[in-house]
Amino acid sequence: MATFKCLKCRTVIDETEERVRCPFCGYRIFVKMRPTVIKRVQAR
Ligand SMILES: [Zn+2]
Repeated sequence: MATFKCLKCRTVIDETEERVRCPFCGYRIFVKMRPTVIKRVQAR
């Protein structure tokens, strides 16, 4: 799951799809935020 933040009205929307329209202002540009769950991956 990913969290998107609207750049226009700054509404936080939880969507997994990349194409998301803001239900408030209809803006299509979002900032992809990191999920609250922290993933720990060991990289070699
Ligand atoms: Zn918006």
